Amino acid sequence: MKTISILGSTGSIGTQTLEIVRRNKDLKVAAVSAGRNIRLLEQQIREFGPRLAAVWSEEDARELRTAVSDLDVEILCGMEGLEAAAACPESELLVTAIVGMIGLVPTVTAIRAGKDIALANKETLVTAGHIIMPLAKECGVKILPVDSEHSAIFQSLNGENRSQIAKLLLTASGGPFRGKKREDLEKMHVEDALRHPNWNMGQKITIDSATLVNKGLEIMEARWLFDVELDQIQVVVQPQSVIHSMVEFTDGAVIAQLGTPDMKLPIQYALYYPERRYLAGDRLDFAKLGSITFEEPDMETFSGLSYAFEAARAGGSMPTVFNAANERAVSKFLHREIGFTDIYRIIRECMDAHRVIAAPDIRQILEVEQSVYDMIESRW
Ligand code: NDP
Repeated sequence: MKTISILGSTGSIGTQTLEIVRRNKDLKVAAVSAGRNIRLLEQQIREFGPRLAAVWSEEDARELRTAVSDLDVEILCGMEGLEAAAACPESELLVTAIVGMIGLVPTVTAIRAGKDIALANKETLVTAGHIIMPLAKECGVKILPVDSEHSAIFQSLNGENRSQIAKLLLTASGGPFRGKKREDLEKMHVEDALRHPNWNMGQKITIDSATLVNKGLEIMEARWLFDVELDQIQVVVQPQSVIHSMVEFTDGAVIAQLGTPDMKLPIQYALYYPERRYLAGDRLDFAKLGSITFEEPDMETFSGLSYAFEAARAGGSMPTVFNAANERAVSKFLHREIGFTDIYRIIRECMDAHRVIAAPDIRQILEVEQSVYDMIESRW
């Protein structure tokens, strides 16, 4: 029996994690957490019987406590609740399926408590990879990637010597606006950006896929996870989303992981690593597929991707600025307060205004995040 906790159990990754738990009798859930969707959280508590559940606001916590007063479950709220769920004594692994930089502090708490991390929350490594990776090593904790690209690389590296990596080839679908030019992007609305061609994901990451900022965040995530230099990471557009990423080795061999676009595969792989389990679902049919094609990413039109390389090269606190500016800009776009390409403008302005702190600690990272939010609120 393996006992897990989930931050963000009501989201896209969280509910798919619970689908895996539902299908496997040897997985148990010790703690769950959600933001605002307490109806779904209540159903999850009734079905999976965790001993702890966390929500964000005190008001929602009160309402949930009343709703589940017939059950033996502790309901907490705020950052205290997230940290308690992350470090829940019964669980051995934490799935970080929460969206945004809010995932950082509870992930650090879980690592300190010795929990392995199934990492979906890429913001954690983007902003604090220099803290998280050494801390995980020191605490003897595994960081198991859930992001499909990073899981593909992780799977391709099985049994390989990491010092023989020549290059990581991070694949990208290109999103719903692949092939479009800047003037087309100016006219795109929320509904257009939420129409991803291959993947069904939460709203924030779907917008990030449309801007290609998601690929930028993934570059930074990959750099820390696999300990490579930035110029060893290449983005390749592969519109069918069949190849989930590849590794080129020093002898020129390329190893890739392929499959249908289904996040349950990387989630399950992280939960059972290094074991593989049966997973129901579609299989690749190469004859039907016919061809797999490749393109260079258009970094001029999708400037968020080039800003990401720039932020990663600057290092220190700049990836936090990139991430926080994007997080707030995407939220504004989803609330229809700004246009699609304003997301790039906001990231650019915030990066231009920032003086890099070389190796920020957690407190400084959170201060930088707040200063970016303040700047955006005062200007946009
Ligand atoms: P969703 O938006 O679908 O879900 C986010 C989850 O976080 C929800 O459970 C939400 O709760 C919770 N949450 C949000 N704010 C708070 C808060 N203040 N306190 C507590 N919980 C909160 O996101 P995804 O599942 O799509 O993405 C989650 C993470 O995984 C992201 O970092 C994303 O980049 C990454 N990822 C996602 C992939 C995907 O296929 N979806 C693929 C690869 C990576 P509620 O809904 O109840 O408000």
